[in-house]
Amino acid sequence: MISSQIQLASYLFASILFILSLGGLSSQESAKRGVFFGIVGMIIAMVSTILGQGVEGHIYIIAAIAVASVIGILVARKVEMTSMPQLVAILHSFVGLAAVLVGFGSYLDPDTQALTGASHTIHLVEIFIGVFIGAITFTGSIVAWGKLDGKIRSKPLLYPGRHLVNILLVIICIVLGVMFAKASGTDGMIYIYIMTAIASFIGIMLVMAIGGADMPVVVSMLNSYSGWAAAAAGFMLGNDLLIVTGALVGSSGAILSIIMCEAMNRSFWSVIFGGFGSTPTGSGKEISGEVTALNHEEVASLLDQAQSIVIVPGYGMAVAKAQFPIYQMVEHLRKQGKEVRFGIHPVAGRLPGHMNVLLAEANVPYDIVLEMEEINDDMPETDVVLVIGANDIVNPGAQDDPASPIYGMPVIEVWKAKNVIVMKRSMATGYAGVQNPLFFKENTNMLYGDAKDSVVKINNYL
Ligand code: NDP
Repeated sequence: MISSQIQLASYLFASILFILSLGGLSSQESAKRGVFFGIVGMIIAMVSTILGQGVEGHIYIIAAIAVASVIGILVARKVEMTSMPQLVAILHSFVGLAAVLVGFGSYLDPDTQALTGASHTIHLVEIFIGVFIGAITFTGSIVAWGKLDGKIRSKPLLYPGRHLVNILLVIICIVLGVMFAKASGTDGMIYIYIMTAIASFIGIMLVMAIGGADMPVVVSMLNSYSGWAAAAAGFMLGNDLLIVTGALVGSSGAILSIIMCEAMNRSFWSVIFGGFGSTPTGSGKEISGEVTALNHEEVASLLDQAQSIVIVPGYGMAVAKAQFPIYQMVEHLRKQGKEVRFGIHPVAGRLPGHMNVLLAEANVPYDIVLEMEEINDDMPETDVVLVIGANDIVNPGAQDDPASPIYGMPVIEVWKAKNVIVMKRSMATGYAGVQNPLFFKENTNMLYGDAKDSVVKINNYL
């Protein structure tokens, strides 16, 4: 057992570590250190909570942590890099579920029942809000997981008057909240059960209304919701560290969502309320033109003649695990005095930073990995752009086709380069399910096949 002063000091120390952790995660060079601070902070947080005053049943707590840790380690080891967003989404759902269960438990707790007056009412409001946010996070995250995993179709489910229905449901929840706060003893349980069902439905409908191309914002928004759910659980349990941690996750997730919305030219508020009212849902205008293809030898000779080369990787690079041979190619070309750089779109792949993680895994130096805004201006002077397993993030329709579902999303303007090579297996569409006019442009050639296979073959010719 530790005294409450020592516990408070540990909580303060853990909070500082969490802030340092978030700071570290903001750049690739310091990310590992950031993760380390986070792990140490979490260990301190758990140990000082378990050893705190009034905590009983240590054996059960340790057993639960041991079982959960084994499951966590097994799942994290097994998960493919391409399935990481799904894992993140499902983990968010656990936070939501935890907040719901903590809320139920907290309401039935005899200590809560013993409270009177304003402190009782305040505690009931905390419980009600915590369960509300938790239930939305729980079901919303499950739907996000289903959409990312292809188990639920990625097209937005839009029906007329859905915003009105959502507002009505929220009003019903507020009324239930008032009845809950007025109920005596544990009679309010029925209201909280009904509200949980309604909030769960709101969570499902909010995320169902959002199209696949906007999923990154949703994942980050759910990250934020899960933080607020944790903060609410912190209020219910009277645990300061949980409040601080939840607020950190909640606000950083919200800031990331705002940054992403700006990057995708979307309205932040319409994401929160589910579905982008003004987003066209068509499938894009008819594309005319001819698709031409090259073979590996021809691509190798184009690269041989080029002086400046830009590589734009996308989800397909992750699927094919092509980053390793790609880096071999880059090293070879750089040795020949060519300028070779990577152009990374903020939502390339299936989670923010997906491409950066893969390239770091293959030891690609950070200084040749540029962001979309940094590389776009250089496109007209680029001899060859290699688009490797990317599709939506290089779709010109996002700029010139108002009927396209991704209209308004900033893209890497690869078509402005002298030559574009697109490596993918077929003419299939990307995540947003829209055909890409880039493939039909005169300066674009396709190189069909698995990305890793193709790069290895090109390397052989080089
Ligand atoms: P896309 O999903 O648009 O396109 C990927 C392309 O890769 C496909 O067209 C596919 O074509 C090709 N591909 C798949 N496997 C292979 C392989 N083994 N070898 C070669 N090519 C392959 O990916 P982008 O990265 O361009 O864009 C990301 C999309 O995902 C955006 O729409 C974004 O909004 C969305 N998204 C992003 C998230 C994020 O946070 N980054 C999260 C969720 C969604 P083919 O089948 O013909 O090979």
